[in-house]
Amino acid sequence: MQRGKQMKRAIYPGSFDPVTFGHIDMIERSAKIVDELVVAILVNSAKNPLFSVEERVSMLGEITGHVPNIRIMSFHGLLIDFAQEVDASIIVRGLRAVTDFEYELQIAQTNRIVNDRIDTVFLTTSLEYAYLSSTIVKEVASYGGDISHFVPEQLIDRIYAKFSRK
Ligand code: ADP
Repeated sequence: MQRGKQMKRAIYPGSFDPVTFGHIDMIERSAKIVDELVVAILVNSAKNPLFSVEERVSMLGEITGHVPNIRIMSFHGLLIDFAQEVDASIIVRGLRAVTDFEYELQIAQTNRIVNDRIDTVFLTTSLEYAYLSSTIVKEVASYGGDISHFVPEQLIDRIYAKFSRK
């Protein structure tokens, strides 16, 4: 980083329940355009997640070892407050389809009103992952289907295990 230049830190928030190839693609691409990327797992009791926050932190850590400028954290409450807390000036979100857009636009505009020092930047999905979401992974895994196209190999058994216990 150049001397005297302020560190550019972005935050990439999500549920990551579980992390998919779509998330990994977003992480790799956004880490390239900032100095530091904070991947922030939202702790949302209303969502009834498949994986605990600790499990999600550890899975994200395992599969992003090749990205040097990344930090994985979890947070409660408002994203915009957490972004301020970690001194991030950018929020990164992914856009897969028009259906993502309306919701994301509203959130981004709200956040900007609450704190105009933080901007939201959208990356469009890579075409090969445009269909992919954590919900799809859970749906297919719940029927014992093949999820190897959706998530890294080392996570597959952990995902199936969640359903075999149910
Ligand atoms: P959330 O519940 O906040 O949407 P997710 O874990 O589902 O959390 O997604 C986190 C972020 O990653 C969101 O901005 C979402 O649009 C983006 N994302 C998820 N899947 C993909 C994908 N396949 N391609 C690009 N972006 C994605």
